[in-house]
Amino acid sequence: MAVLDQLTSQQAIDLENKYGAHNYHPLPVVLSRGEGVHVWDVDGKQYYDFLSAYSAVNQGHCHPKIVNAMVHQAQTLTLTSRAFYNDVLGKYEKFACEFFGFDKLLPMNTGAEAVETALKLCRKWAYEVKGIHKNEAEIIVCENNFHGRTTTIISFSNDPVARKNFGPYTHGFIKIAYNNLEALEEALKKHPNVGGFLVEPIQGEAGVYVPDENYLTRAKALCEQYNVLFIADEVQTGIARTGQLLAVDHENVKPDVLILGKAISGGVYPVSAVLANNHVMNVIKPGNHGSTFGGNPVAAAVAIAALEVVRDENLAENAFVLGNLFRSELNKYIETSHIVNLVRGKGLLNAILINDDEESDTAWNICLALRDNGLLAKPTHGNIIRFAPPLVMTEIQLLDCVSIIVKTLKQFEK
Ligand SMILES: *Cc1c(COP(=O)(O)O)cnc(C)c1O
Repeated sequence: MAVLDQLTSQQAIDLENKYGAHNYHPLPVVLSRGEGVHVWDVDGKQYYDFLSAYSAVNQGHCHPKIVNAMVHQAQTLTLTSRAFYNDVLGKYEKFACEFFGFDKLLPMNTGAEAVETALKLCRKWAYEVKGIHKNEAEIIVCENNFHGRTTTIISFSNDPVARKNFGPYTHGFIKIAYNNLEALEEALKKHPNVGGFLVEPIQGEAGVYVPDENYLTRAKALCEQYNVLFIADEVQTGIARTGQLLAVDHENVKPDVLILGKAISGGVYPVSAVLANNHVMNVIKPGNHGSTFGGNPVAAAVAIAALEVVRDENLAENAFVLGNLFRSELNKYIETSHIVNLVRGKGLLNAILINDDEESDTAWNICLALRDNGLLAKPTHGNIIRFAPPLVMTEIQLLDCVSIIVKTLKQFEK
């Protein structure tokens, strides 16, 4: 079989099953093309993409401006490593720092790497600026967090599937309840060695769990009071997804450390970043941290184009307006529904809660039926289905999607 021969769905699935590690459980659909809010399978069937690669494809599939930036840069210079300077990285760093309002950016490739970077940055700051004793720095994290898959990050996960048999675990993390300011204040009082508080402004993987209004504002104030870095993981919530450029912008909170990934490249290339001001970022010195591909010219060119698209096409505004429409339309249906309990979210990061226990396969079966009806989504945590389409959607398309979702849910009403 030549590499370019068109596979059938079954052939593609069989190949992955036989030769790929089984570290995912994909919905059975084999995609071969994407454009804007749509993807197509190998048989040419069209779908609305309601996952957007976990919010990496906010700008829509194969956005021509981003793809052109990548192609142009790929034909010019792809990788120098950071042993030498290149003529795109600095431009990107300036652009992104001004875009998000920080002094400095540290470029990496994946979200998990950026989280690791933020943890290292926080620890070094804790020792060298805050003055915590050697090897005693701690970082507060939240229950039901999702920050990636590295050994350190899963050390403070409480998802047994992500953790079990991957020990010994990394020390130095204190886990508290999410959306609980008393728990945060108590931990800060009790543990004088804390250097940072790592938090998702909305817990995406946990099931689009939106904290109470002012949670982030008050948490940030507590961090200031105790001289602790407020570290926002906006890998999923950032880049216009929730109806603002950043989810913290809903409360005008300014993190000390900002973690970005996913849509910072529009999904065409792995790009992630950590941003902070000089008084924090300047603790990092040559040799302390790095990555061969981090900050390469292709990544830099792609990220500039991807952020320009977010700005020029008003994607935050569109996500805000369409998100309100989506929830109000679905709420009309939910009023009389037995199969859906609620819809929640912000902007175009939403989820519905299926009226069934976590172990049931109802949500999975609904996703299979959605697929058959031309819309792709995936359950998260058993009975929750996340809906996160590309932000380039139009109102007419969104209403079409709502009718597909409602039609599908009706098939499951008792
Ligand atoms: C996806 C995600 C990550 C990890 O990103 P990867 O690129 O998969 O390593 C980290 N934090 C959050 C909030 C995410 O949603």
